[in-house]
Amino acid sequence: MLTLENVYTHYGKIEALHGISLEVNQGEIVSLIGANGAGKTTLLMTVCGDPRASEGRITFMGQDITETPTSDIMRGGIAIVPEGRRVFSGLTVMENLQMGAFFSDKSDFVRTLEYVYDLFPRLRERHSQRAGTMSGGEQQMLAIGRALMSHPKMLFLDEPSLGLAPIIINQIFEIIGKLREEGMTIFLVEQNANQALRLADRGYVLENGKVVLQDTGANLLVNEDVRKAYLGG
Ligand code: ATP
Repeated sequence: MLTLENVYTHYGKIEALHGISLEVNQGEIVSLIGANGAGKTTLLMTVCGDPRASEGRITFMGQDITETPTSDIMRGGIAIVPEGRRVFSGLTVMENLQMGAFFSDKSDFVRTLEYVYDLFPRLRERHSQRAGTMSGGEQQMLAIGRALMSHPKMLFLDEPSLGLAPIIINQIFEIIGKLREEGMTIFLVEQNANQALRLADRGYVLENGKVVLQDTGANLLVNEDVRKAYLGG
């Protein structure tokens, strides 16, 4: 569904990605793990066209999107839940969800809203609360809900567990698993390698802008190098 072939990304003269090749197939959860600064966010954002790949090819659902404007990539079926959630803190829960549906068919709005509220009953309870006054976990649910409002074909999640309490992290990962059961294709970027690999069909390990390992989630979980570097031995 998504393919990267030998993708390089530069920030000015700094080369952040050095020839990345990977794929995400329909219906899979693929996890990308790596330390701080490995280039995980850069990789996600490069697929979204900002920053743009300086070399290589990115295809999504059979179309070359390497040069496609970001807004068209988003309209074409990729939704991103950014690192740090970035909900509109002055807007209510409902207004945030409306923003997520901005480019979508308006006739579908109520049905999609109900779908998101069923997935996250807490958001229904808090529909008129300002997003900025919600807890971190609630804001993460809202960020995911907002992304789903655009009916994406593929969901990118950038560090959804960052800064959340373990019990909330479990809830978020449960929801991600549920989305996959419903057929969503998910590309998950995480420093929480343990949870991310448990959930993943396949995973990639990124080090210094390069893929150094790829395998099934189950195999990566028991891989010696992965255990030492990312799972605390
Ligand atoms: P983290 O988990 O800390 O967000 P990451 O794996 O997502 O890390 P990136 O944020 O993609 O890593 O950063 C990869 C490299 O690119 C780092 O060396 C970083 O300093 C650099 N970088 C990221 N964004 C920019 C930018 N806007 N301008 C210049 N360099 C950048």
